[in-house]
Amino acid sequence: MVRSANLGFPRIGARRELKHAVEAYWKGECSADRLKAIGAELRTRHWQLQQDAGIDVIPSNDFSFYDQMLDMAVTLGAVPPRFAALADADPLDLRFAMARGTDDAPAMEMTKWFDTNYHYIVPEVSADQRFELRDPKPVAEVREARALGIQTRPVLIGPITFLMLSKAQDGTAPLSLLGRLLPIYRQLLNRLADEGAEWVQVDEPVLALDLPASAQDALRTAYAALADERPALMLTSYFEGLGDNLALAAGLPVAGLHLDLVRGAQDLTPALTLVDRDRVLSLGLIDGRNIWRANLRDTLKTLQVAIAARGPERLQVAPSCSLLHCPVDLTRETELDAELRGWLAFAKQKLEEVAVLARAAHGTSTAIEDALDDAHMAATRRRTSARTHDRAVADRLASVQTRDMERRSPFAERRVKQQARFDLPPFPTTTIGSFPQTREVRKARAAHRRGDMDDAAYEAFLKAETERTIRAQEDLGLDVLVHGEFERNDMVEYFGEQLNGFAFTRAGWVQSYGTRCVKPPIIYGDVSRPAPMTVAWSRYAQSLTDRPVKGMLTGPVTILQWSFVRDDQPRSATCFQIALAIRDEVADLEAAGIGMIQIDEPALREGLPLRTADRAAYLDWAVDAFRLAAAPVADATQIHTHMCYAEFNDIMDAIAGLDADVISIETSRSHMALLDAFAVFAYPNDIGPGVWDIHSPRVPSSDEMVALLTKASAAIPRDRLWVNPDCGLKTRAWPEVAAALKAMVSAARSLRHAK
Ligand code: GLN
Ligand code: ZN
Repeated sequence: MVRSANLGFPRIGARRELKHAVEAYWKGECSADRLKAIGAELRTRHWQLQQDAGIDVIPSNDFSFYDQMLDMAVTLGAVPPRFAALADADPLDLRFAMARGTDDAPAMEMTKWFDTNYHYIVPEVSADQRFELRDPKPVAEVREARALGIQTRPVLIGPITFLMLSKAQDGTAPLSLLGRLLPIYRQLLNRLADEGAEWVQVDEPVLALDLPASAQDALRTAYAALADERPALMLTSYFEGLGDNLALAAGLPVAGLHLDLVRGAQDLTPALTLVDRDRVLSLGLIDGRNIWRANLRDTLKTLQVAIAARGPERLQVAPSCSLLHCPVDLTRETELDAELRGWLAFAKQKLEEVAVLARAAHGTSTAIEDALDDAHMAATRRRTSARTHDRAVADRLASVQTRDMERRSPFAERRVKQQARFDLPPFPTTTIGSFPQTREVRKARAAHRRGDMDDAAYEAFLKAETERTIRAQEDLGLDVLVHGEFERNDMVEYFGEQLNGFAFTRAGWVQSYGTRCVKPPIIYGDVSRPAPMTVAWSRYAQSLTDRPVKGMLTGPVTILQWSFVRDDQPRSATCFQIALAIRDEVADLEAAGIGMIQIDEPALREGLPLRTADRAAYLDWAVDAFRLAAAPVADATQIHTHMCYAEFNDIMDAIAGLDADVISIETSRSHMALLDAFAVFAYPNDIGPGVWDIHSPRVPSSDEMVALLTKASAAIPRDRLWVNPDCGLKTRAWPEVAAALKAMVSAARSLRHAK
């Protein structure tokens, strides 16, 4: 029998109940007992929902009050010594302390989970690391589900992924700790078996990466040691095909193997022969990373290929990965029109798709035929709809030439013209774009949305904020000003709302980290720009001052990266469409007299494919898209770009390829270490290394900034340095902003005088 399985369900709740409860707990407005009760309610609701959807294999331990990696670290006893004081505290408080820090102990580091927008807590290990089975949450969840009459397959992060994603401050290679870690996993597996778990899902997504020999060996060692434990192991990997790791994965002595057949469709054929017939093969056929409804007729064909090769006995159908990366329930999206809604599936609907596929494998009924027909019809309509295809966009894209991506002259020539035009002092000062989104700004926006504030009043309010910000910048003595971005809710949503081809959900929240959720726009159709988006605000701001005001745009790669993207054409095609829309905006800003235009690309690096072999192709089109957006302007128009904290070393070619006249980057926390990549590369254009860590409420002194800039001028010629904060100021308060920018301007001035 083909069985339907799930690898993980979003825990946040359809109404973000978990977020609200945890935040209330942090504020002291909700007791620990109440918070735990809400967690239990959510788990129960989600288990039952999966059962009702017809899922045979239901996960447990996919729930977390903060993060599953953090939970795993606590379960394995990998609690950094600085949190020892909380050893006897409620495990909930220990976790929150580790994630958020305390007065005495800084928070643990957080970073992106593979190529998703989910962030996990980075486990810390050291040479004298001891592991122990502590707070066996996975066991408790199996028991809890069983008490409800639901048999679950608990999810664990596998030992190799756990170690490879851990960090050791003392230079220990985390994998060298495997020998100490495996007994704890064995103990845990035994406890799970005692609790009645017949299967355990072990997540090893590192199998989607290029694996050094040491990691391959570690995988063999680990699974040789774990495979004889009682619960059968379903080894899962996702986010990319297994590719050259398939033979390795198929050779591990585990009872089941899961394949992401959305990202790694090419794994199926070899897997059908490589994976022994006595193993269970889990086919990840439903896209866990996107929101499109599947064409189940097509998907069923793939399933039938597998059945024909191996018989139905040891097959499972599943989403490609955990559904953590999808919004919870489409039925709440009552404001989307019926046609568009008919093209979508969120977590709950995806499980229904999985269940239909598994049942369809055993012969059909009218209900199943109807479900397959509906899905097929929706897919056909989406493919052929006039809403997804705009002839003018396709024609324009087809006519793009290489020269459309090139500025008229090389940087050296542009620079001379820009210097003549703007006549800026050395170490020119500027900011990244946004100014404080104060409570008043957010209140006015909410009132306007609700209809309690009319358009005219809202516009007058925004104009007053903008003018105040222009005056403040003039008073502070900044050289290049910004308008402050008060009219923007979010740097992607603001543009998406004004572009064709985008849709917005009411409650399509996805967990980003901890209690933080994002609501990505959905790009469903060809993208075009019906009208200018930012020109009026930039023109207004520029009219208030003689100093240059930068026009402020979000770049095509970042808009793409922070949205759910259509799956019926390559991501690059969608990115180029967005680039053309931004290009028109750039041209219009220039025509309106705006002399400097910043195109933010903070997400350039996070779009990097997981496998190195795929990276060059991505960087090529990502850079081309930016250039297409930035290129229409005259030499004397200055293009800026901005990137947040990132590892720049391995993408320096791409960064230089953008050919922005000025790039601002986040460097202050790293004490300018990130600037080394630019120095080593001999980056040719202007750079503004951030001198103020805007993530912290702390206001640095002018002397500190001078020290940072002195360090920077040792690495980069001083006539190419700009002076700016790390990132936008929207989360800061005005008093901090005024004090820090004052110190920043004074730092720049003292450097101008120093020779
Ligand atoms: N211009 C944006 C701002 O200042 C840039 C934000 C970002 O880089 N994430 O808010
Ligand atoms: Zn930034």
